[in-house]
Amino acid sequence: MNIALIAHDKKKDSLVGFATAYKDILAEHQLFATGTTGSRIIQETGLSIHRFQSGPYGGDQEIGAYVANNKMDIVIFFRDPLTAQPHEPDVSALMRLCDVYSVPLATNMGTAEILLKGLERGDLSWRNIVYGKSGDQDGRDNS
Ligand code: PGA
Repeated sequence: MNIALIAHDKKKDSLVGFATAYKDILAEHQLFATGTTGSRIIQETGLSIHRFQSGPYGGDQEIGAYVANNKMDIVIFFRDPLTAQPHEPDVSALMRLCDVYSVPLATNMGTAEILLKGLERGDLSWRNIVYGKSGDQDGRDNS
């Protein structure tokens, strides 16, 4: 599965902690992240992650493009609901596309934990069936 990891600045510590706790599950999948979030997680977990642009510079839109092309299976986006974001339209657009394409989206740790536990026990294999995929090594262009 292709998994996107994003966190607003005040949520980055939480996402790093989450990625550390679930490192073994995450390591079995293709990981993507916005720029700064990706750097933090790579630095502190050693996970291999494809980094897009930083969120305010287009990273959320890049992940949205993956969602629109069925190249993203899960989006974990720890949003900060208490701080105004300069790129709020991009954030809304990404969440909207997840709903358009029924891509599982977790916007806080509580949901993200359930999502990864579900992933571990195969609850998301419907995505492989619906999209005719055979797993991570399915020939999709992950670049
Ligand atoms: P960042 O972007 O990981 O580059 O900080 C996240 C965001 O604010 O959307």
